[in-house]
Amino acid sequence: MRRLLTTIATALLAVPAAMAAPPVVLVQAGHLSPGEPGYLAQTGASGNPFGDESEFARRVRDDIIRRLKAAGVDARALAARVDPLGVGGATFLSVHHDSPGGAAMVGHAVAGGNENYYHGQGFGTGRAMPYPDSARHRTPATTVSPLVQRTSAATAHRVASALGAIFTPANGAGGRFRGVVPTNSNRRMNHFYGYYRTTAQSRVLIEVGAAPDDNAFLRRTALIGRALTGAIVADLRARRLL
Ligand SMILES: [Zn+2]
Repeated sequence: MRRLLTTIATALLAVPAAMAAPPVVLVQAGHLSPGEPGYLAQTGASGNPFGDESEFARRVRDDIIRRLKAAGVDARALAARVDPLGVGGATFLSVHHDSPGGAAMVGHAVAGGNENYYHGQGFGTGRAMPYPDSARHRTPATTVSPLVQRTSAATAHRVASALGAIFTPANGAGGRFRGVVPTNSNRRMNHFYGYYRTTAQSRVLIEVGAAPDDNAFLRRTALIGRALTGAIVADLRARRLL
């Protein structure tokens, strides 16, 4: 009996990653309706080649989803409202572009603290504690552990390398590339609400560029989608999830 159990256990351990359930990757189109309660006023930037930030994000999201599925990933599309609340997965990527004067950059979840609170549905400066007039947020919020921070940082660096490689004048980029923003230098990037609506092991937000300085680059959604998908797939493989 013991030998039989040992044989079964050995066989199970030998199942290659490809035969296990495919990893789940959540790709969020920033600001795309329906919105997240507490942030409904944050409808995003404008002035990219497709109009609103949400439309740019939707195009890039859908391109990434299609490529991830072709690579054997269980890729799922999210709007600004993260449904279901607390959804799990290997990776959560939120796609955005910055406003005038901004930059291409990547942020990730950091341990400790919580999501940003604003006035009403998203006005004013974000801070860790609710304002008296902050709109109600959905609960329970998920947490960011030190392990999630480490995993997220590694994903962010891979995503930033891929973005940096294509964020060139030849590809239409005209603005700045800042890579991975330093931890806790930017509440908007390090305490994004989406990190607290999922239990994904890795949680990252990307500003692909800034409109209108990078508009010729932002127009190239297939180039962007291919590069970002490559980074996510490489990250999943490094984590032995694909
Ligand atoms: Zn945004």
